[in-house]
Amino acid sequence: MTETETMSEQHFETTAIHAGQEFDPTTGAIIPPIYQTSTFVQDGIGGFRGGYEYARGGNPTRSSLETLLAALEGGAHGYSFASGLAAEDALLRAALEPGDHVVLGNDVYGGTHRLINTIHKKSGILNDTVEMMDLDAVRAAVIPGTTKILWLETPSNPLMKISDVAALAEIGHAAGAIVVVDNTFASPYLQQPLALGADVVVHSTTKYLGGHSDVLGGALVLNDGELNEKVGYQQFAAGAVSGPMDAWLTVRGIKTLAVRMDRHSANAQAIAEHLVGHPALERIYYPGLEAHPGHELAARQMSGFGGMLSVQLVGGPSAARRFAESTKLFSLAESLGGVESLIGYPSEMTHASVRGTALEVPENLIRLSVGIENVNDLLADLDEALAAVS
Ligand SMILES: *Cc1c(COP(=O)(O)O)cnc(C)c1O
Repeated sequence: MTETETMSEQHFETTAIHAGQEFDPTTGAIIPPIYQTSTFVQDGIGGFRGGYEYARGGNPTRSSLETLLAALEGGAHGYSFASGLAAEDALLRAALEPGDHVVLGNDVYGGTHRLINTIHKKSGILNDTVEMMDLDAVRAAVIPGTTKILWLETPSNPLMKISDVAALAEIGHAAGAIVVVDNTFASPYLQQPLALGADVVVHSTTKYLGGHSDVLGGALVLNDGELNEKVGYQQFAAGAVSGPMDAWLTVRGIKTLAVRMDRHSANAQAIAEHLVGHPALERIYYPGLEAHPGHELAARQMSGFGGMLSVQLVGGPSAARRFAESTKLFSLAESLGGVESLIGYPSEMTHASVRGTALEVPENLIRLSVGIENVNDLLADLDEALAAVS
């Protein structure tokens, strides 16, 4: 039996704890050491131990994370980078040539749009944004032979739109594009895009995978082929790799991903249900609510609805700002996916870079990253803060 076969028979929770995590053969230490080293001694010129030569090309701590990431997403290869955007940049450089076209969801992470629309635009990369829930609109937006990437994010940020990965993969492939899914919001515990037909999975491991708001990182997972060779070359030749300590912290976080995601999802569901009908709120965006337009699709392609939800305030932008500044347990901060609850005002925080573009978000919108605290404490905090703006 090969290693891959063993993995596929294991359950996710087990893989998350064991893949790539062999104990240290020298001492028996159950946790593989953090290889805080930049270079590796050679047994004679070219005599590499375990293939390691110089840490930009490979470091055992990073390798253990990369093996783990690939196993979690069901892909052949994982690559770990210094940040989510560094991972995205490596993928874009690997996959695109000047003149190529990218079609992006119209509410992808603002930084993704900025990266493509400013930095890669300078290298002659064209882009268009489209509503990914509207399959006909996507068919119309892709240019066969020219569109090389169809880039989607589901659930999306911050409007929690759900798009159909399998259907979009078919549309992308028919046009000759690769299909990239940013799986940061769902995490591989709740959704596995490669199994649904996507070609590449992107993560900001800064979020749920790391899970403790103490480390920045990004990842790409993909299968064998020409693109894999190019991604590996980008990682090595451009060098935006994660350091050993960051890789180790991410591995440590991933071990509890399954239990954390269960609690994030349960807390967010309870909060969403509690907030329905609140007089201070105009609208709630959470895919776990039956009234959410993507609810059925999410139930089909995900195994849970996740910990992110957004709300729109009846009182407009000023009420939204006051709400975000009034919670006590929900800390006012960018980012998401950590054990602690966060509240954000996308229009001026995470999505400030897309103001004035097609990706602009409503100014009365508040985004919650629901943590894994006791849900009653979270509900009390939100009720109190909402009472202050009603
Ligand atoms: C945070 C985030 C990114 C960017 O990742 P960094 O680690 O901040 O560089 C990309 N996509 C999504 C959905 C994100 O939330």
